[in-house]
Amino acid sequence: MSFSARQSNGIVVEFMETQVVFDSTRKTAFPLLVTHAHGDHCKGLRSKETYCTHPTLELADVQEAESHHLVEFNRPFEVGHAEVEAHNSGHILGSAQYKVTTDSESLVYTGDLNFRDTLITKRAEAVPCDVLIMESTYGTPCYFPSREYMYERIVDWTTFSIKRGRIPTFQTDALGNAQELITLLNIETALPVITHPRVSKYNEVYRKFGHNLQYFDEKSEEGLEISCGGNYALIVPKNVNLRTDVRAEKLDIAFVSGWGARFSGRRKAFCLSDHSDFYRLLDFVEEVAPRKVFTCHGSHRSKVTLAKKIQSALQIKSMPLKRESSSGVVRKHVDLARIGSCVEEIMANVKPGFIYPKGWLVSATCNGLRRFTKGEVETGLSASVKQGRLRYLHETDSFELNLP
Ligand SMILES: [Zn+2]
Ligand SMILES: [Zn+2]
Repeated sequence: MSFSARQSNGIVVEFMETQVVFDSTRKTAFPLLVTHAHGDHCKGLRSKETYCTHPTLELADVQEAESHHLVEFNRPFEVGHAEVEAHNSGHILGSAQYKVTTDSESLVYTGDLNFRDTLITKRAEAVPCDVLIMESTYGTPCYFPSREYMYERIVDWTTFSIKRGRIPTFQTDALGNAQELITLLNIETALPVITHPRVSKYNEVYRKFGHNLQYFDEKSEEGLEISCGGNYALIVPKNVNLRTDVRAEKLDIAFVSGWGARFSGRRKAFCLSDHSDFYRLLDFVEEVAPRKVFTCHGSHRSKVTLAKKIQSALQIKSMPLKRESSSGVVRKHVDLARIGSCVEEIMANVKPGFIYPKGWLVSATCNGLRRFTKGEVETGLSASVKQGRLRYLHETDSFELNLP
């Protein structure tokens, strides 16, 4: 039996009588497989039946409950009619990709993916499968410099900043990049590293799982003492406002992110990411060698561009994962009667002489008494255009009455 997959508050995959959800953005009644502890992936962790790795559960700071099944890499377990196996995705501590195998087909969902070794993570495993659902955060052509080169530049900048009597300060993701930076500074410099409490919280979990991070929490006694003296490196989350910091005058601030080079403006930036760049994502697909690829995550343009490139460069059928409605081996039940009444509802919302943005029409019709879904309204809109009742205006993505 084939899979059908779609994006709907997470990645929903159906096969036989079973439905599972990956990285649900809310509580779900279906078995939930969580890839890692970044906020946009683990919101559903309090659901009834949840699978994740032990580090993920600890990093997400969810109390262990009976509903949590802790999974280990390369140890198969059963969900419904399928065998499921977690594999390293190389992104952050505990990050997993999942392979689901039925008697006729296999599917892998990557979650966030990094396909290069770093100081603290091993690169993602390329797990052979028929259908690959992969992230496309950096799905438009971009190139990250080698890690070794970035490490060297970061250390040089840190040393230079200290020599000038200043405080080298890194603004970055509190989970993932921050721990990689601490490890780098621990190995390459003798500087004490002070971390913001939000970073320290994650550091502790890394330590618990065997990463020997040397750091001082900013609010701890030692941290406060070192802060008074100077001669240390500081690591804070991206959204901390350092302009109001008492030390503001003394801070040399650098922004550390995969977007670093593109969006830093006039700030100092280092391009270091726990994702893979465009070209490395292609290498990954080539090594996995699936029959079909669905891209998800990132902007619409990212998903489309990466899918097109996979198709043209690797000759593997590839497309963005559909939202809401079924895709993959499609098992779509279009209720024609319902679409008919949806068209009537749309027409009731449209008055002559006005132009209606698509988004407005969709939400107005969804919020009507009949509670049509977004998918139904979109189908209803194209039906109305086909029937010649509405005219679609490309430039503004809007509709108007098609008057005779
Ligand atoms: Zn992530
Ligand atoms: Zn993500």
